[in-house]
Amino acid sequence: KKVADRYLKREVLGEGTYGVVYKAIDTKTGQTVAIKKIRLGKQKEGVNFTALREIKLLKELNDPNIIELIDAFPHKGNLHLVFEFMETDLETVIRDRNIVLSPADIKSYLQMTLKGLAFCHKKWVLHRDMKPNNLLIGADGQLKLADFGLARIFGSPDRRFTHQVFARWYRAPELLFGAKQYGPGVDVWAAACIFAELLLRRPFLQGNSDIDQLGKIFAVFGTPKSSQWQDMIYLPDYVEYQYVPSQSLRTLFPMASDDALDLLSKMFTYDPKARISAQQALEHRYFSSVPPPTKPASLPRPP
Ligand code: ADP
Repeated sequence: KKVADRYLKREVLGEGTYGVVYKAIDTKTGQTVAIKKIRLGKQKEGVNFTALREIKLLKELNDPNIIELIDAFPHKGNLHLVFEFMETDLETVIRDRNIVLSPADIKSYLQMTLKGLAFCHKKWVLHRDMKPNNLLIGADGQLKLADFGLARIFGSPDRRFTHQVFARWYRAPELLFGAKQYGPGVDVWAAACIFAELLLRRPFLQGNSDIDQLGKIFAVFGTPKSSQWQDMIYLPDYVEYQYVPSQSLRTLFPMASDDALDLLSKMFTYDPKARISAQQALEHRYFSSVPPPTKPASLPRPP
């Protein structure tokens, strides 16, 4: 069955945060694509203009490490977003016990993630929902960030579906303290959690509620001191916590290099104003020291 006279629908790829995702063939180009059908729910008047304007901006966000939004159109009351088709995602790679990730492979995945982030942050677009299953991997091994900006357009996904609890594990402390105004630092914190997950091969900070998530963060990094993070006390949900000392990252990540741990700790800085930016992270010596990052085409992948 054709959608909008152009896309031949194939099988369902999965149920996502915003609705069903289909595999399809673009008859105009012959390319395989993924179509995300977004339920517009309450907005009975159809796609609102703000959303359409924002989507137009996303279409212009072209970078090798950002998934390309090929087309966007309303159809039968749903909004359809057409993306390039991707073979797998980073969560699948991390979970696959048959895949060995070398230090060079980890460096490559982190570098591609930060490149995508730095590009978007330069254009003042935040991702806001970074997690390993949003980092898609193409047949050529390139990692591309998916769902960029969608959280802002369609509302915070975790409020919509309960299966979205995993996003909590990647949430920055300022968000957990209820910050309403936040910046690119939230994506850098999430990228740090993903870096840690690549090293550990399991999610690093697995909180089972927002409060517990803060507790998990404090248990590792210690309770933040006001000297470390001056604006913390002004955040809406800030409460004083009982003192907890910090642990050494060296003990938690015995296999990581000194350069890797130095970068990791700079990405895990409490004060979002002092946290390293995606661009600065790319310039960190971790990326210029040996081993060089694995070329995308040589990265290990699931069968
Ligand atoms: P979530 O919102 O839970 O992150 P998504 O809506 O992004 O999920 O995706 C739902 C399913 O569709 C997932 O199984 C994902 O792997 C698949 N999918 C999403 N985008 C693509 C794509 N561009 N190419 C291939 N599969 C995709």
